Amino acid sequence: MNTRKPTLDSARLDKVVALARRDAEQRGHGYRERALKMYPWICGRCAREFTRANVQELTVHHRNHDHDYNPPDGSNWELLCVYCHDNEHSRYIDHAAGNAAGPGDVASPATSNPFAGLKALLKK
Ligand SMILES: [Zn+2]
Ligand SMILES: [Zn+2]
Repeated sequence: MNTRKPTLDSARLDKVVALARRDAEQRGHGYRERALKMYPWICGRCAREFTRANVQELTVHHRNHDHDYNPPDGSNWELLCVYCHDNEHSRYIDHAAGNAAGPGDVASPATSNPFAGLKALLKK
């Protein structure tokens, strides 16, 4: 009685998990590409212009600070250079610090967020 090999089931499960993970990653990472296609490569604060050579310094800011809120019309995105983006988040954090900054406020699972460590740094 060995018609069902358990390895088959676990292989299928691995595939499902891999697909789900890929979907989640695409949801999280896709917005930068889309925002860069949708908007001119100019910082929305200091009007600095970007080219392919330095576009990595241009970041996608979420106007409502919710990285999971990515409407297809781009209304929650704003292109900011890293400096202005930094500024924007510092102000937000200063403001949020007045209220009880508990878990689940601006924490985001986005792995590509260059400001992930910023909040922790500012808490020192
Ligand atoms: Zn700027
Ligand atoms: Zn931002």
